[in-house]
Amino acid sequence: MEKDFNPKNAWLEMEDVEHEEVFDFNGDYAEFLNNCKTEREFVQGSIELLEAEGFRDICEFQKLKKGDKVYRVNRDSAIMAAVIGERPLTDGMRIVGAHMDSPRIDLKPNPLYEDSEIAYLSTHYYGGVKKYQWVSIPLAIHGVVVKEDGSKVHINIGEKEDDPVFYISDLLPHLGQDQMQKKMSEAINGEQLRLIIGSIPEKSEKDEEKKPKDKVKTAILNHLYKEYGITGEDLVSAELQIVPAMKARDVGFDRGLLAAYGHDDRVCAYTALRAILDVDKPQYTAVLLLVDKEEVGSMGSTGMKSHFFENTVAEMINLSSENYSELILRRTIENSKSLSGDVNAAYDPNFADAFEKNNSSYLGKGVVITKYTGARGKSGSSEASAEFVAEIRSLFNNAGVLWQTGELGKVDKGGGGTIAQFLANYNMDVLDCGPVVLSMHSPYELVSKVDVYHTYLAYQVFMEK
Ligand code: MN
Ligand code: MN
Repeated sequence: MEKDFNPKNAWLEMEDVEHEEVFDFNGDYAEFLNNCKTEREFVQGSIELLEAEGFRDICEFQKLKKGDKVYRVNRDSAIMAAVIGERPLTDGMRIVGAHMDSPRIDLKPNPLYEDSEIAYLSTHYYGGVKKYQWVSIPLAIHGVVVKEDGSKVHINIGEKEDDPVFYISDLLPHLGQDQMQKKMSEAINGEQLRLIIGSIPEKSEKDEEKKPKDKVKTAILNHLYKEYGITGEDLVSAELQIVPAMKARDVGFDRGLLAAYGHDDRVCAYTALRAILDVDKPQYTAVLLLVDKEEVGSMGSTGMKSHFFENTVAEMINLSSENYSELILRRTIENSKSLSGDVNAAYDPNFADAFEKNNSSYLGKGVVITKYTGARGKSGSSEASAEFVAEIRSLFNNAGVLWQTGELGKVDKGGGGTIAQFLANYNMDVLDCGPVVLSMHSPYELVSKVDVYHTYLAYQVFMEK
């Protein structure tokens, strides 16, 4: 037995056939990411995969028994799926939770205006973004507009080859002397993240009736109405998200890395989804829990702080036994164990100063076990117990899951949180567990394909064993 703890490069630990599996899996993941750039799209994509594997909406069940595959959707923006285990529900569940929302730019409620004969949408960014990273790159608009009669218009513009894209401008270096002296956090401010959406003015018969500045805006309004039946007021009841119009791409001559928008945290959401699709006769009921709003504090009815999770467990208990009670619900949840699937920061030699080498996690060394998150004296951390970490370590070691550990950066450099704390509030065991990401929260993040695959293996063995 090796005495020193020294995680090895995962590529070196695998056979050639496993390499192929890794690449195939990541090909599927890349395609899923290209099609699912919002939480609503992710939920829709999840339902399609779940139904293809025999999962059905909980409404369709009169009773739940061993082996049944069930899911429940919350407002098109969160989803929970389960495979009913061999043991009774009250023995607890094995839950993998992750979030599907990613940092992005949202629209303001009254976004459309014209300035200097350019039509803009004003925005309010969502989550922790470095604003300067979002200028002068191709952007797409995804989302839904809900009209007064409740009908929905789904928008997805900027992804097809012949689609237009949208754009946020930056200042040319020739005139950028003052800007370049600013702090990076101020070089581009929030209000400057305004999206260019048009430039051709409406040719009107009654030109004199309109001020020149309204003509491009008028043309855009006409276009929106003609193409989508959308009015300016309809944008008040819309969830339109500005996301990078870039597809996932292999990185490096050896194609070992995958760059994409939204790895945080769709890499965990997708691997957990694939894991539950492959779960067969689990001892304990296996649960997939994909939520929204993590990047803004897990608030709201679709975030992890919502009662959606426990309400769904209550529904499952009600369909599984004759005598539902709140005590049974509490016992079921308290006896459960969970992995909080979220990403950690990859050690970056480019910014070595932010990391402590022995307690960082690295691209290509497998899935990361993060015992605690938090910042500045572990503040805000949900720390997994030593007992539960030992249990997971043993599970992974026995199943050949390659894993490493790490903190999020040096002490007092910063920190972060996940949904772990909200699961822990139910008094269940929770451990943060997911792959590392380089350039996290940027418009184009990087993961290692071998880490993605071992994250899938980790979740699968946790749900099944
Ligand atoms: Mn995350
Ligand atoms: Mn994040």
